[in-house]
Amino acid sequence: MESIDENSNRRVISLGLGDPSAHTCFRTTYVAEKAVLDGLQSQKFNGYAPTTGLSDARRAIAKYLSCDLPYKLSPYDVYITSGCTQAIDVALSIVARPGANILVARPGFPIYDLCAEIRRLEVRHFDLLPKKGWEVDIASVEALADKNTVALVIINPGNPCANVYTYQHLKKIAETAERLNIPLIADEVYGHLAFGSKPFVPMGVFGFTVPVLTLGSISKRWMVPGWSLGWFVTSDPNGMFRSPKIEECLKKYFDIMGGPATFIQAAVPRILEQTDEAFFVNTINVLKQTSEICFNMIKYIPGITCPQKPEGSMAVMVQLDLSLLHEISDDIDFCFKLAKEEAVVVLPGTAVGLRDWIRIIFAVDPSSLEEALRRIKSFCQRHCNQLQDYQ
Ligand SMILES: *Cc1c(COP(=O)(O)O)cnc(C)c1O
Repeated sequence: MESIDENSNRRVISLGLGDPSAHTCFRTTYVAEKAVLDGLQSQKFNGYAPTTGLSDARRAIAKYLSCDLPYKLSPYDVYITSGCTQAIDVALSIVARPGANILVARPGFPIYDLCAEIRRLEVRHFDLLPKKGWEVDIASVEALADKNTVALVIINPGNPCANVYTYQHLKKIAETAERLNIPLIADEVYGHLAFGSKPFVPMGVFGFTVPVLTLGSISKRWMVPGWSLGWFVTSDPNGMFRSPKIEECLKKYFDIMGGPATFIQAAVPRILEQTDEAFFVNTINVLKQTSEICFNMIKYIPGITCPQKPEGSMAVMVQLDLSLLHEISDDIDFCFKLAKEEAVVVLPGTAVGLRDWIRIIFAVDPSSLEEALRRIKSFCQRHCNQLQDYQ
């Protein structure tokens, strides 16, 4: 941000941060706003909630998630957290022990690395394969795991790769975790935000094969990250995580953490049960449209390529071809110069574990996204050696 030229009269466009609420086309549904207003004005929810969450909210989340599972979650499987971010911390804390390691994807979501460091967990990165729809490199998972491996983290639909995994691939992942005898941590904060040919399948479907800790929130599907309403859920029909000892640990841990405001929790049953299908359909249509703008415009920009058409979530990885971009030394340099010359902000791939890539957020209103991509195009053309193919 500091390298942006303040004297430029051009508006800064950020494709760097995954918060669609800034754009009018991603306004949340009236149902959600009204549910919060009513909860607030009822005066019933100004007090403390139970530390694991209001029971009506836990019940509603259990019901919402059970719709897509071959078994029923109990409200006691559900713990309310401050967004999915806190659910990540709960999951890593519950599996952490001295000397332990967890397996996390590269590219990935940096909060996992940060959180693991605080919890003294070693992070081992397995690869996602860009040429195979960013599927998990199962062989690299197996090669990294040892007797101190305590969990495997899967983000689906994926940030930062916009991938959506098939039932078959998720099954393979579940069977791998079963073989390694470790639970899965399934980050499904983008659950249902799938707009390609593959439907979203929750990892909990494989709960009989391997215990799954499901993490989610209303931040992305309802476009309200500032409401900080998330969940940590044991999708574990065999009850491996339902031992009194673990439940007591979880309960105590929640006793020392603050959750979301009580009136936001009180709104959860209405938000989950009464949101119009039309709202979801509209969100999917807008994301499909903006992801296609992104993918199609990048095809005509020299020096950058998007190997895989986005199918879900809000972010996509784009590879830099530094042999063409002759004045650019790496992804960080690319982002600094782009910010300075074009007032467009994108995230260097280094921040998510892949050097000489960039991450672009496409959950942006279509006209700003097109303008940003036009600026990226003139930037790349200016810095490119071989323009003839693209002009
Ligand atoms: C946004 C995001 C989160 C955090 O969700 P919040 O509900 O905003 O805390 C977690 N995981 C991934 C992969 C995300 O993209």
